Amino acid sequence: MATQDLPAAFGFLASARADGGRLPEAVFATRGSLAGVDARLSEQTLTATLVHTPGCPPDAAFARDAGTAVLLAGELYNREELRSVLDTEPAGDAELVLALVGRYGPHAFRLLNGRFAAVVATGRRVLLATDHAGSVPLYASVAPGEVLASTEVKALTGQSAPHGFPLAGARRVRGLPGVYQVPAGAVVDVDLTAGTAGVQRTWTPPLARRIMPEGDAVAAVRTALDQAVAARLTPGATPLVVLSGGIDSSGVAACAHRAAGALESVSMGTDASDEFAQARVVADHLRSRHREITVPAADLLAQLPYAVWAAESVDPNIIEYLLPLVALYRRLDDAPRRILTGYGADIPLAGMHREDRLPDLDTAVAYDMATFDGLNEMSPVLSALSGHWSTHPYWDREVLDLLVCLEAGLKRRYGRDKWVLRAALADALPEATVKRPKLGVHEGSGTTSSFSALLTGQGVAEQDVEAVKAQVVRELFDLTVAGGRRPDEVSTDEVVRSVVERHTKDAA
Ligand code: AMP
Ligand code: MG
Repeated sequence: MATQDLPAAFGFLASARADGGRLPEAVFATRGSLAGVDARLSEQTLTATLVHTPGCPPDAAFARDAGTAVLLAGELYNREELRSVLDTEPAGDAELVLALVGRYGPHAFRLLNGRFAAVVATGRRVLLATDHAGSVPLYASVAPGEVLASTEVKALTGQSAPHGFPLAGARRVRGLPGVYQVPAGAVVDVDLTAGTAGVQRTWTPPLARRIMPEGDAVAAVRTALDQAVAARLTPGATPLVVLSGGIDSSGVAACAHRAAGALESVSMGTDASDEFAQARVVADHLRSRHREITVPAADLLAQLPYAVWAAESVDPNIIEYLLPLVALYRRLDDAPRRILTGYGADIPLAGMHREDRLPDLDTAVAYDMATFDGLNEMSPVLSALSGHWSTHPYWDREVLDLLVCLEAGLKRRYGRDKWVLRAALADALPEATVKRPKLGVHEGSGTTSSFSALLTGQGVAEQDVEAVKAQVVRELFDLTVAGGRRPDEVSTDEVVRSVVERHTKDAA
C-alpha cells in the first residue's frame, strides 16, 4: 500500500526561542522517522523534531516566510473551502495555514476543520493551536524567551520542570509541574519576551438545540457523514475501517465503501468475548476484505502500559475503551495505513448512557461535551504506536456540530437510541445492523470484565474494583509518561500486585 496518503507529520517537539538555541532530544511513542526543522526568523528561531512515516518526506508539515513559520502535525479536511479565500495555491497543509494566518491572524484557526496540532512562530509571538476536538493533544511549557511544545507530553518530561510559567485556562499535567495541555479548540497566544500567554477559543460545543423535521435531520446527518468520510479518504486507495458491527463503525464502513467503491475492515476480539459474527454481517453486505484478530485476554491486559503510554490519560474508563484498539493496531502488520473508526458517535448522541428520558439524555450530552477535553480519547498516538494514522469521522467538526445540536427527541425516538443516525443509514446496511443495540468496545471485547477479574482474582473486593483500576492506571501513567520508562519495561502484573498490596494495607 502506498503511504503518501498519510499526513506529512504525526507529531512534533518544537522549541521557539528569542535567541536561537538547541532542540532537546525528542522521545515519542509515535513510531516513525525523525526529521529536523530549523527556522531562523527575524525575531525568533523555531527548531523542531517531526515524527513522520518512514520514506515519506515531511515537507508539507512545515512552511515559512521571512517573519512567520508554521509547523503542523495531522491534516485538514476542508482544504477546498480554505483555498477558496486565498489568491495563492498553497501546496501542503502547513503552507495553507501560513497563508491563512497571514490573512486572518490567529483567527485563521476558527476556519479549520481538521485533526491537527500546530505551532506558529511569528514576530515575537508563538501560537499553539489545537483542532476543535483537541484530537491531537498538544502540551506546552512556557517561559520568558522560550516556548517548548509537543504532541506527546512525555517529550517534555524533565526538560522544562524548573521554569514553566502557569498557563491560565490550560490544564496541568499530573506529575509534570510547569507543563500544560492546550485546550481543545483553542489558540494559546504566547508573548515570547515576557513568557505570558492568553487563551483564545476557536470552537466550543454548541449549547443550543435545533428542532428539525425528521426527514431533514436524517438527510442532513447522512450528507454530513458522507462528506466527513469522503474527506478522510485518499483517491485510489482502499479504505480500512475498524469494524465492530455496531451502527457507528458500520455507518462509517458503508459511507467509505460508497465513496471508494471498495473496502477493507478488521475486527478484534478476545478469548473472553468478541463481536465477530455481527461485524461479519456488515463485511459481507459491503463485500469488504475482512480480517478478524483474536487477542487472548491475558495478552490484552499485558498491553495496558502501551495504552497509557500512548494515550497519556489517567482516566481508567477511557483506558478501557482504548486498550482493545491499541491491541488491534499493534497486531495489524500492514505497512502504515490510514484507518477510519466509528469512535465518538455516542458522545453527541448519548448512546453510552442508554437514556430513555429526554431531559437525562440532554444532560448526558451536555456533560460529556463539557468534559471530553483532556481525556485524549481521540489521540492519533494510539494507532501511531504501530505507524498507523487513525481518523474519526463522527468528530469531524461539521458532523459533531450537527449531532450535538439536534433536539433530544431526534436522538431517542420510537424506542430507539441514536435514532437519527440509524435512520440515516437504514438504506446502506442490513436491518439487523441498523437495529443492533449499543455495545461498547470495552464490553464487546471483554476488556472491562477481564480487568475486573484480574483484580478480584488478587483479592480485591467487588466494591473496590473501580478505585483500584484508577490507581493502576495512575501508576502506569507515573511510570511510563511522567517517569519516562518504556512500556516494555513495565509489567501490568507487577503494577497490579503492588497497587493491590498497598490498597490492602490501607484498607486494613
Ligand atoms: P464503541 O465503544 O463500540 O463505540 O467503539 C468505538 C469504535 O471502535 C467503533 O466505532 C469501531 O470503529 C471500533 N471498534 C469497536 N469494537 C471493535 C472491535 N471489536 N473490532 C474492531 N474495531 C472495533
Ligand atoms: Mg461497539
